[in-house]
Amino acid sequence: MKFAGLVKQSLVDYPGEVTAVLFTRGCNIRCPFCQNPDLLLRSPRFVEPISLEEALDFLKERKGFLDAVTVTGGEPTLHEDLPHALSAFKALGYLVKLDTNGTNPAMLQQLIAGGILDYVAMDIKAPLDYRKYARACGKLTTEEFFNVRSSIRMLMEAGIEVEFRTTVVPLLHSFEDIEEIARYIQGAPLYSLQQFNPSVTLDTDYGAVVPYTRQEMQALADRCAPFVQNVRVVNI
Ligand code: SF4
Repeated sequence: MKFAGLVKQSLVDYPGEVTAVLFTRGCNIRCPFCQNPDLLLRSPRFVEPISLEEALDFLKERKGFLDAVTVTGGEPTLHEDLPHALSAFKALGYLVKLDTNGTNPAMLQQLIAGGILDYVAMDIKAPLDYRKYARACGKLTTEEFFNVRSSIRMLMEAGIEVEFRTTVVPLLHSFEDIEEIARYIQGAPLYSLQQFNPSVTLDTDYGAVVPYTRQEMQALADRCAPFVQNVRVVNI
């Protein structure tokens, strides 16, 4: 397996732990607000990829300084050899976190059943209504939509640390939409609301969208609070 990038140390990607972050290339959807448009194509263009062996060498060197490995994208579950890579990280004694858009519940199930994952952060792009969800994803098959719903259900019962998160984009999400998502994941341990950042977007028209203010984000969190165990606002 090859990775498109490495952040050697992060204090913000795995709550409470110091983590390395590995990026995978390629995504099956096209969120217009995507902050990583360079990662969407699977064929590496300008970037020299990092092999699994190189990643493992780095992680062996950093043992004792890092607690965890976070794999993010793009969409990591597009890579059939992801379970092999995550198992290798786990075998080194690291906590393993996966960031996913939830469109591959079969691989998620395999990883959870294998005891490979310690933490999953799953994006919820919009209320769980196909029309709204497809708009927020840029493109989405009905099968992918039902897969997202399956992944949410599975993660709610997975017995590992789970975070659901939404990038809140005023053009796509009303306050009612965000509350609807919180109601859908009722009882979830953590719902993170990420303030939209217009500085880099896949659809350049979204560069003109004004994010909700910090006060509005907090008001959104307050609306979600009755439905989930914890709400976190991540401001830009
Ligand atoms: S934001 Fe959307 S398009 Fe970008 S990597 Fe995540 S799921 Fe893919």
